[in-house]
Amino acid sequence: MSGADRGILTVVSGFAGSGKGTVMKKLIQDHAEYALSVSATSRAPREGEKEGVSYFFKTRDEFEEMIRKDEFLEYAEYVGNYYGTPADFVYRMMDEGKDVILEIELQGAMQVKKKYPEAVLVFLTPPDANTLYARLKGRGTETDEVIAKRMRRAAEEASLLDGYDYIVVNDEVDLCAERIHGIIKAAHHSVKHEKALIDSLTEELRDINL
Ligand code: 5GP
Repeated sequence: MSGADRGILTVVSGFAGSGKGTVMKKLIQDHAEYALSVSATSRAPREGEKEGVSYFFKTRDEFEEMIRKDEFLEYAEYVGNYYGTPADFVYRMMDEGKDVILEIELQGAMQVKKKYPEAVLVFLTPPDANTLYARLKGRGTETDEVIAKRMRRAAEEASLLDGYDYIVVNDEVDLCAERIHGIIKAAHHSVKHEKALIDSLTEELRDINL
């Protein structure tokens, strides 16, 4: 399949509290052409989360069994729990020409980049640290201890953003979703996605009879 027909793989990461979940929901709502990958995790479901929609919820043993069977495109341990992207869905959708979005943390994003260098890596950030803290606190779903852990993690992550292609400020949800949409649209024309086109052009130009 040529690069032009294959879907784009986009990785969206962001600090916990960057509003990623809301932005992703808006993006998918407005652009049904995107397939959002559903991750597996060993973390307990939060109130309102649905099996197979928010995550595939697994025990640590079940998750480790999936690791052994090499079922993940990437996986990582984040604040004491496993998170991973089942590979099957991602490759199937991309082969069907769908643009696939993974909403994953930094270690996983770097694994994807290594395995699949054509992936587009986007990092989402709130405008400043105070907004981040206020969002985490306001969510009311985590203890102060977990919030503190997540803020420390954000400080570490901020120094590791060089591996990403784009950074998008989430000041307003609709705008932010459109910025990501714009990035994915542009990626369809990127040289790294159009390798097959470039190869065939090069060959045609070399072989043309004048
Ligand atoms: P939460 O527990 O708040 O749902 O997610 C915690 C972090 O795990 C978020 O940064 C989220 O993006 C990340 N995450 C969710 N699914 C995956 C996954 O499949 N792989 C990796 N590496 N991170 C994930």
